Amino acid sequence: MAYNYRTIIEKAYQMANSMEDEGKLATYIPELANVDPSKFGVHMTKVNGDNFGMGDHLERFSIQSIAKVLSLTLAYKILGEEIWKRIDVEPSGTKFDSLLLLETNNGIPRNPFVNSGAIVICDILISHLDDAREEFLAFVRKLSDLPELNYSDKIADSEKMYGYRNVALCNFIKSFGNIENEPAVVLDFYFDMCSLEMNCQELSYTISFLANNGYKLSNNEVIVSSSQSKRINALMLTCGFYDESGEFAFKVGLPGKSGVGGGIVALYPNNYAIAVWSPKLNPHGNSFKGMKLLEEVTTHSEMSIF
Ligand code: GLU
Repeated sequence: MAYNYRTIIEKAYQMANSMEDEGKLATYIPELANVDPSKFGVHMTKVNGDNFGMGDHLERFSIQSIAKVLSLTLAYKILGEEIWKRIDVEPSGTKFDSLLLLETNNGIPRNPFVNSGAIVICDILISHLDDAREEFLAFVRKLSDLPELNYSDKIADSEKMYGYRNVALCNFIKSFGNIENEPAVVLDFYFDMCSLEMNCQELSYTISFLANNGYKLSNNEVIVSSSQSKRINALMLTCGFYDESGEFAFKVGLPGKSGVGGGIVALYPNNYAIAVWSPKLNPHGNSFKGMKLLEEVTTHSEMSIF
């Protein structure tokens, strides 16, 4: 269906911006609590190259768990279907940092997007790469066309100081034999991975290969096969928002992934990728205004995957 995406984004942005923000900043990572809570930006990158952004879309923020889509992509490229022996593909219905289901599932995380699953992905990358930290960064630099992109030591150190639950998760999984490397090494990489900073324009472009059947937009390079791209999208749809994944599919109807920095990416296959940032989070750890904006976009464009 033809639609004017600029008008739709403008309307959705204004609507979400006029609402009272019921969210709260994430404070368990002290650096995230220092962010201006009124920031609000959105950027859409279409697979035909058109793109449009509004608000604080050119200001970088901590992408946090959105990086889990990129680490899964790299690990899936390396391991192929073998990867699913270490991590399941089921929604968790639990909080992002929950330990609950690991006990009954013998240390196999429910999916790659809860913290436990992303920690196992980090372990896989460490086992299969000479220098996972550097090679993952090089991979994201290539995807984003941002050769200067770097980890934020400030954010990573801030999380490391208080990351007790992630330490618990990693050690607990190790006790079941599903972590091969030293937990301290795995966690260092996990905190670095979560510390990447991008703006909405950069993020929507970086993720756009998943709206383009696995091909990078700028040069048609195959990042993952179309089947792998489809599966990553399926996981984002079913597991991208922790215990609010059903609600996001219900209200927005797109594959997506959130982060506690207040960012959300979502995509409409063969059409566009969109990134939105508003730092205040709802009780499930997902951006309050970001969710509202995306709901408006798919409702008014009448374009969701359903
Ligand atoms: N680094 C964060 C953590 O491990 C990521 C969580 C998120 O963005 O949802 O707690």
